[in-house]
Amino acid sequence: MEIKVFKFGGASVNSADGYRNVLRILKKYRDTPLMVVVSAMGKTTNALELVLKHFRANDPIGLIESFDAIYEAHFSVITELFPDKNHVVYGEAESLFDQLRGYIRKGHLYDKAHRTYDFEYDQIVSYGELFSSCILNNYLNSKGITCRLLDARELIITDDTYRDARVNWEKSGELIKASVLQYFEGPASSSVVLTQGFIGSEPSGNSTTLGREGSDFTAAILAYILKSQDVTIWKDVSGVLNADPKWFKNPKKLPVISYREAIELAYYGASVIHPKTIRPLENAGIKLYVKSFKNPGAAGTVIKNIDRWNISFPIYIRKQNQVLISISPRDFSFIVEENLSQIFTVLARYRAKTNVMQNSAISFSICLERNDEVLYDLIEELSQNYEIRYNSNVDLFTVRHYTPAAISRLSRGRTVLLEQKTRNTVHLVVK
Ligand code: ASP
Ligand code: MG
Repeated sequence: MEIKVFKFGGASVNSADGYRNVLRILKKYRDTPLMVVVSAMGKTTNALELVLKHFRANDPIGLIESFDAIYEAHFSVITELFPDKNHVVYGEAESLFDQLRGYIRKGHLYDKAHRTYDFEYDQIVSYGELFSSCILNNYLNSKGITCRLLDARELIITDDTYRDARVNWEKSGELIKASVLQYFEGPASSSVVLTQGFIGSEPSGNSTTLGREGSDFTAAILAYILKSQDVTIWKDVSGVLNADPKWFKNPKKLPVISYREAIELAYYGASVIHPKTIRPLENAGIKLYVKSFKNPGAAGTVIKNIDRWNISFPIYIRKQNQVLISISPRDFSFIVEENLSQIFTVLARYRAKTNVMQNSAISFSICLERNDEVLYDLIEELSQNYEIRYNSNVDLFTVRHYTPAAISRLSRGRTVLLEQKTRNTVHLVVK
């Protein structure tokens, strides 16, 4: 039995029409056992991050407002999809919202040892996927697709690195096989088994998350364990493009890319695929299709094993909201291994994501994802031993397979603060 894995991203379920469209796509695969992974609706993850922010700031008004906005967004979709007010979805969704409400009300009573940002992030932000999967499960069943919803926290077991949890492949593998396969077998078999992307749990039962955009990774884990031949990620773009249409005019679609290239692209921040996703797929030779949910019949992009790069244009990646920090020893001594290891220990402790680094004799520069929750503490800590200069709010451009024209196109009208070239890749940190 071959199980296909589909992942529907937040954009595919950001409205009632979105859910209807997912149904239309799934109906085309009625005879195929489908493992479906769903993300949180639209921008719910960001909205939950805002709830967390107000929660941590002890701001009751902000907390209620941000919570209510999420509640209303979900219930407006539910009311549209389920005209029958007695449908179980109302109770199920309400009880999920109650759990979250309980958490943010009583959260401050929790064991102090646990009250870190990362821990609370996972307990709160994981609800986005719980909400969307509850709606999708009920909707599919109400429209004649036999769907089984499994809680990803009972399938994906991780360590307790909250907000960036590491998967325990062995335990997760056993649980996935034991719980998923049975639903595709036998006379009363389901055509869809549904679960949440992005979330898992650690051995003591608390929720964990796999990093932003982690639902792709969930799909890859499932495909690997279930021995699927391919995974399809349904997105709002026609496939993997050579740049993000939000800032780049007329990007071109890449019809085929290698796993290697996909890893590089994801690593440098192309928002196509979560960086951890490709590894398990590559190991097992599982093809990854990226297709448009608006045009499901179109070919999209396939990521698979190919020997040689066969596309003759550059690929542009832009990461906004970066900070460029330059770190120098206070006494003008050289930067040596000992400094680097000290610096990286601090970065790791703040889970700072380093995108580019460059060192010279007396300074070390790093370009980081800007996260105001930790940035100033991080800078303060580094300042204890180093002279720190930083530029918040810079952009990082990466160009794969760059040409001189590609570089000048990006630097035009901008101040380049750092440029770093390797054979295939150039990074520009610009203001
Ligand atoms: N909902 C999560 C996020 O927005 C995970 C995902 O969509 O893949 O990051
Ligand atoms: Mg998403």
